[in-house]
This record gives sequence, structure tokens and C-alpha cells, in this order.
Amino acid sequence: MRQPALFLGHGSPMTTITECPERASWQALGRKLAGALRPSAILIVSAHWETNGRVHVTAQAAPPTIHDFRGFPPELFAVRYPAPGSAPLVARLAELLGDALVADDGWGFDHGSWGVMQPMFPDADIPMVQLSLNRALDANGDGTAHLALARKLAVLRDEGVLIVGSGNIFHNLRLFFAHREVLPQFSDPFVERILAAVAAGDDAALTRFAPDDEAAAVAINSGEHYWPLIYTVGARLPGDGVAFFNRTGGDGLAMACVLLGDPSLVEGLTA
Ligand code: ZN
Repeated sequence: MRQPALFLGHGSPMTTITECPERASWQALGRKLAGALRPSAILIVSAHWETNGRVHVTAQAAPPTIHDFRGFPPELFAVRYPAPGSAPLVARLAELLGDALVADDGWGFDHGSWGVMQPMFPDADIPMVQLSLNRALDANGDGTAHLALARKLAVLRDEGVLIVGSGNIFHNLRLFFAHREVLPQFSDPFVERILAAVAAGDDAALTRFAPDDEAAAVAINSGEHYWPLIYTVGARLPGDGVAFFNRTGGDGLAMACVLLGDPSLVEGLTA
């Protein structure tokens, strides 16, 4: 059965183990998807695995859980996400992407992937494969090449694969730590602008930013948390509805999430 495509604003790693509306939304959506619509596998693109040249994919039978952060409490380091990998999905990706893809045994599930999947699918029994973010594809600040790659993956949704981008539409840690009080005045308008472009299917407005676009320069200052969104919008299929959730919260990191597919799946989740 056709799967939705998701973008999940993941925010602080603490969201994974903290009772909060954003985590409650992920949990509720996961419960809905775990029923009749259960994915055969998950393909996730995380902000926290950057490569430069080709796209890497976790190729292990049992990818390790990576705690790629410092300064958090032991409970967070204790989280393990033992979902199996998927050799068939890795092989399918090789068919779709050819030489652009590298099978990689050196990474695993980082907190951009397990941090959102643990709340959604706590049993960790759905095979999962993580893709790297190839920064060579946006070397000039233009995400068109990410979009072209993502479009090649859209077909997987009809093969039972849940496609997930995990990042944050607004992510500027320098501002976050120095001037958190002013973050919403930068974050809120940018997030609404991007969500409007997603709703309108305006891919150019999501991938190309003018050199004098100051709002984008602040929001996407390092890019790695924004570009995973393009893997979601690139997976759009004819007939998809668009729905947003977790539009508030995150203390300025913008937790906004996007669902392409059946909007009723997010009815009743946090607005
Ligand atoms: Zn992150």
C-alpha cells in the first residue's frame, strides 16, 4: 500500500525522551501507521550524516545506534534503536541511484533518525535504512540536485517504503544559543513561507534562494537541517494531499512537520 512521505522537525535530542506535544504527535502518527498502513521498510535522510561526493547508505544487517552529541544526560545515551537494516532496500536503492550510491558499513542510525523513529515505532521492528545528505549536491546553495535525486526515490512509496526527511526548517544554532529570545521573529515567518511553498508545490521556492534572501540565509545558515525537507517534497506523487503538524514549539528550532499523502493521518495531532 502506498506510504506517505514525511518531514519531521526533530529539534533537540531530548525531545525523544521528554513528554511534550511534539513527541506525542510522533507517537500518535506512528500508532496510526503501525496498523493497516504498516510500512515494509523505512528510508530516512537525516541532517546528521553528511557526505561530500556521493550518497551513502547504511548497508549493515544491524546498523548501530550512534549517539552523535555531547552534554546530554545518560538516559539519552542509553537509548538504542535496534531496527534491522534491509539488504533488499539497499539493492533497490542501487538500482534507482546507480553509481551515485555507496554502500557504507561505517555509519548507523544517528539521532536524526532514531530520535524520531523511537517515538514513532518503539518496537524497532520495521527494517530501516538511512541515507546520507550529499553536500556536493547543494555546494552552490541550490538544492535542485537534491530534488532530482529525491524524485528517483518517490516510486518506493508504492513499494511499501516510508520515506522520511529529518531536520528542521529553521536551524541556526548560533542564534539559538546567543539570542534565543529573538528566534521566533526570524523563525516563524520563514517556516510559514516554506510551508506555503510546500502546500503550493512550488519546488523552485524550496530549492533556490537568491543571494540577497536574508531570511533564508539566517534560517539555512549551514543547510544540513533544511535539505532533508527536499527528500520529502521530492517524493511527492500525483494525488497526494498535504498536511502540517507540530507547527509550534521547539524554542525557535522550528519543529514543523510535513506529511504528503492522506491528510487524515495527522488529524487530531498537535496543530
Ligand atoms: Zn538535528
